[in-house]
Amino acid sequence: MKLSETIRQNMIKNGKRFWAGDNVSEYVGNHIPDLIEEATVAFEGVLDALLIDRKNDPNSQGTARRLAKMYFYEIMAGRYSERPDATAFPNDSEDRYGGLLVVRSELKSMCSHHHQPVTGVAYIGIIPGQKVIGLSKYTRIAQWCARRGTLQEELCNDIAREISKATDSEDVAVYIQATHGCCENRGIGAHSSLTQTTVLKGQFNGADVKKEFFDNIALQQQFAPR
Ligand SMILES: [Zn+2]
Repeated sequence: MKLSETIRQNMIKNGKRFWAGDNVSEYVGNHIPDLIEEATVAFEGVLDALLIDRKNDPNSQGTARRLAKMYFYEIMAGRYSERPDATAFPNDSEDRYGGLLVVRSELKSMCSHHHQPVTGVAYIGIIPGQKVIGLSKYTRIAQWCARRGTLQEELCNDIAREISKATDSEDVAVYIQATHGCCENRGIGAHSSLTQTTVLKGQFNGADVKKEFFDNIALQQQFAPR
């Protein structure tokens, strides 16, 4: 039996969901190179079915392997790798930070419907609880969630949930602005397909905190417009 088949059977047996946006790292372990071999053969079949001469066309030689590696190591890497390590630091002293933190994270993702690129930026808001994580970790976690096949609405939820887990804070907000290759390169062929999604948790549902969050985003956008 193929390795991918064995892993799939294993996940089905354990009731593990393995949708395009799900992380399957605990089932994949260190088998990525073997799975790349299997995916290479499968992509060769796709190229053949598309009637692309992958033997004589110099640009298509090796494309199947490039695609396989790109999926596992780049555009879907967040499915196969464990959550980035986010060491937490205590935020419980007298002069603890009690304000709002808003971190801007560049996002690269892919829609699970057409495997077209989704490019944008996430603004992650948090009111720290008893601990904080390094600023770069917010972006690492957001990227880890994004590097899968996603829907922007789900991605927004995924980032909020993972940031909440990593920081132990219930007060988290995520706002994403992104353009979608599946609107620009196909279908309606729109030149601009800016889509905005927002998830507000805990105190961010209060009018004042919500306003401060969006005011912060507006301020950030003055300096790094998108
Ligand atoms: Zn799509």
